[in-house]
Amino acid sequence: MSENTAAVLTARGVRKTFEAENAPVRALRGVDLTVDRGEFVALMGPSGCGKSTLLNLIAGLDTADEGRIMVADEEVTGRTEDDLARLRRRHIGIIFQFFNLLEGMTVLENVALPAVIAGRKRRMAETRARDLLDLLGISDKAAAVPSVLSGGQRQRLAIARALANEPTLLLADEPTGALDSDGGAEVIELLTRLHRGGQTIVMVTHDANVAHAAGRVVRMRDGRIAEPQPGDDRVGPASAASATIGPASPAAAGAS
Ligand code: ADP
Ligand code: MG
Repeated sequence: MSENTAAVLTARGVRKTFEAENAPVRALRGVDLTVDRGEFVALMGPSGCGKSTLLNLIAGLDTADEGRIMVADEEVTGRTEDDLARLRRRHIGIIFQFFNLLEGMTVLENVALPAVIAGRKRRMAETRARDLLDLLGISDKAAAVPSVLSGGQRQRLAIARALANEPTLLLADEPTGALDSDGGAEVIELLTRLHRGGQTIVMVTHDANVAHAAGRVVRMRDGRIAEPQPGDDRVGPASAASATIGPASPAAAGAS
């Protein structure tokens, strides 16, 4: 049944207020958003408009005050911590600006960890982790610790880890925000390639050039989804004719 539904994410009337020292901060004031299977959406908007809050609620890392969020036909709102953890393992991959890698583990162990936590045999988890590192062009770094990697490689590693359990939805919160332009380009090239392979992605970004890689731009303002601007809703790089980023071969991603 779920296979017939185009929407991978639905948010309806989502509200979130934080209790701050002086006055409450109304971070989300009624957000409606639908993302279809296979879409690559760039979420843009000024600092403080609620982008990270929305991503965290979608991922079940924080809870909404009001409204409803569905991911892959599963209700995210109103669930227990245990349910949310299971839902995240099953459906959500998330990457952040500052990578959140485990420095005491090797590159391979970082990628294998989510699958091991999800209950898979270590050898199977490591086999899949090797495949992912291969796909992402960092397999020669499998035995290294993350700290020897470049910024772009570190974020590619974080993406590999986020993909370990084949998530329905990949969430990215300013994934290029801490990278130089080369590192940023590597990450965007990779996300574009994953999107072409059918991965659904919601990516927060400040950068219009980065947003350009996505098929659709959604703008937020003051805790709400804002009116689209001309050109926001266009055919993205999933269609080869309109590709804005170079060849998506593994070799291209691996070289640098
Ligand atoms: P963005 O990611 O768009 O920059 P955020 O979602 O991080 O914005 O924040 C939205 C608003 O909510 C901001 O005013 C921020 O200061 C506030 N906020 C976010 N998280 C918290 C928190 N844990 N406690 C209090 N205020 C918060
Ligand atoms: Mg943010």
